[in-house]
Amino acid sequence: RVERILVSSCLMGRPVRYDGRAKPVVGDLFERWRAEGRLVPFCPEVAGGLPVPRPPAEIVGSRVLTEDGRDVTDAFQRGARLALEIARRAGARIALLKEGSPSCGGTRVHDGTFTGRSTAGEGLTAALLRSSGIRVFPETDLAAVASLLAEWETH
Ligand code: SF4
Repeated sequence: RVERILVSSCLMGRPVRYDGRAKPVVGDLFERWRAEGRLVPFCPEVAGGLPVPRPPAEIVGSRVLTEDGRDVTDAFQRGARLALEIARRAGARIALLKEGSPSCGGTRVHDGTFTGRSTAGEGLTAALLRSSGIRVFPETDLAAVASLLAEWETH
């Protein structure tokens, strides 16, 4: 069985970030996975109904707010549910997600003050995928994904 990996679209080079740009991952491992057809790109914020570009948003308490105070929690939650649905449909048990995002961040997010500071925490999509049993990794840890793939595919 070839394990598939749900990937933040912006990491695959799609210009879907709030600022209209991408954050493409560069590296041999990533290119090999792409060529093997493992990668399933998904952007929860766009899928949740938000436009590109869009105002930056941060997690503030239990809500997600834009800098000018608009509550976009519903779109973020919708995007998270859709990400889980896509992962399940693709049979992906691993997700490679953009660190720091209020949707995709797996271990760090902005601290809610819109000052560029980050804090320990999870984005809404990362949290939902993880609590649903999907293994979530940041783009800075391709090696951990590679070893999990090796482990799962040799047993
Ligand atoms: Fe990338 Fe995730 Fe932000 Fe979409 S929501 S732009 S996939 S980090």
